[in-house]
Amino acid sequence: MLAPFTAGWQSTDLHPLVIERSEGSYVYDINGKKYIDALAGLWCTALGGNEPRLIKAATEQLNKLPFYHSFWNRTTKPSLDLANEILSMFTAREMGKVFFTNSGSEANDSQVKLVWYYNNALGRPNKKKFIARSKSYHGSTLIAASLSGLPALHQKFDLPAPFVLHTDCPHYWRFRLPDETEEEFSTRLANNLENLILKEGPETVAAFIAEPVMGAGGVILPPKTYFDKIQAILKKYDILLIADEVITAFGRLGTMFGCDMYGIKPDLVSIAKALSSAYMPIGAILVSPEITDVIYSQSNKLGSFAHGFTYSGHPVSCAVAIETLKIYNERNIIEHVNKIAPRFQEGIKAFSGSPIVGEIRGLGLILGTEFVDNKSPNDPFPAEWGVGSIFGAECEKRGMLIRVAGDSIMLSPPLIMTPNEVEEIISKFGDALKATEERIAELK
Ligand code: PLP
Repeated sequence: MLAPFTAGWQSTDLHPLVIERSEGSYVYDINGKKYIDALAGLWCTALGGNEPRLIKAATEQLNKLPFYHSFWNRTTKPSLDLANEILSMFTAREMGKVFFTNSGSEANDSQVKLVWYYNNALGRPNKKKFIARSKSYHGSTLIAASLSGLPALHQKFDLPAPFVLHTDCPHYWRFRLPDETEEEFSTRLANNLENLILKEGPETVAAFIAEPVMGAGGVILPPKTYFDKIQAILKKYDILLIADEVITAFGRLGTMFGCDMYGIKPDLVSIAKALSSAYMPIGAILVSPEITDVIYSQSNKLGSFAHGFTYSGHPVSCAVAIETLKIYNERNIIEHVNKIAPRFQEGIKAFSGSPIVGEIRGLGLILGTEFVDNKSPNDPFPAEWGVGSIFGAECEKRGMLIRVAGDSIMLSPPLIMTPNEVEEIISKFGDALKATEERIAELK
C-alpha cells in the first residue's frame, strides 16, 4: 500500500500501527493493545467507534437500496432528506441548497468550480482568484491542496495553482508584533488582506476561504474581532466567503457550527467528517440562496450544472448521516461537549508552564500544543530532535493516539467522551510530557 502522508514508499515496510477494531473512544491494534483515540480517527469519529444505530442505519439502507445516483434529476430519498436536515441545522444564516461530495477535499474543489460558474453566469469572467490563508488545510486534491497553506502540500507538486493567493495566518502568539493587542493584530491582518485585494484588483478576486478554527495547521483560534474585520473587507469588494467547516461542524467547538461561534455569515460552507461520524465517506457544500438563484438561471440556459460525482448523495452514506444528525439532536451533543470541554481545556492547559511548551490553545474539544525552547515562538527546537514525534511516541507507548505535525501536536477526541476518559487523556498527556521533557534534557 502507498500510504497517505507517510514517509517512504510502502507503509508495510515501515511497520505501521495496524488498527483492528474500535469501541467508544478507544481503538485496538492487531496485537490487542488499547488506545484512547484522542484525535477521533482524523478529527471525525464524533460518536466514537461502535455506535449501533449507525451500523443499523447502514445495514437497513444496504438491504433496501445500496446505490442509486443523483444525476439528471434522479435521486434517492436519503439524499433529499439529508439535504433538508442540514439546511435546517445551519442557522448562522439562511442557506439555499446542499450539494453532496464524498470528502472535504471534493467539497472544496466543488466550491471553486461553483464560484467560477457563478461569476461566469454574472458576466464577470475575470473574477476568479481565491484567497486562502497560510497554514490552512483544505484537503489534498489538486485544488484543495492549492488552497491549503502548508508548504508540504505544494513542494514537488507544482502547486499552488496560479489563481490561489495566500494571506496571513491569524496566529496571535506566533505572529503578533511587540505590544500588539489581539484586536490590533486582527486590524493589521484585515489591512493586509485589503492591500492584497487592491494589489490584485478586486475585480479579479472571487472568494476567500477560511476554517473557523484552523485544524491541521496547529489548532489556531481566530484572534478577537478577526472575522468581523475580515468579513467587512470581503463585503466591501464583493468577494464571497467560504467557511471550511470540515472539522468544526457539528459540535466540535461547543456550537453546532464554527460560524455560530464567531458570527460568520458565509456564502458557502464545506462540511464532511462528523456529518456521518466518519462511518461512511460523505461531504457536502451549502450554497446561499443568492448563489443558488444564479446557478439555476445559468444552468437553465446551458442545460445542466455539469458537475458531480457517481457517489454524490450516496444513499448509504446519506442514511448514516441522517442517523448521525438525529443522534446529535436527541442526545444534545452540544450540551455534552460544553459539559466536558471546560475540564478538557483546563486540564491540558495546566501543562502550559512546562519549559518545553510554547503555547497550548483550544476551544471545546479541540486543542493544539506547540513545543519550543525558552517559551518563545522564535526559538524552535532543532528539527532533527523531532520533539513533536518524541511526544507522539510517548503518547502511543501509553495507549493514546494524537496528531503530530512537526513540533505541533493536536487533540480532537470523540465528542461522546466521558469525564473519566477526559481524565485519562489529561493524565497520559502529562506523563508523556514529563518523559519528553526528560528526553530533551538529555539532548541538550
Ligand atoms: N478541510 C479541512 C478543514 C480539513 O481538516 C480536511 C481534512 O482534514 C479537509 C478539508 C479535507 O477533507 P478530506 O480528507 O475528507 O478530503
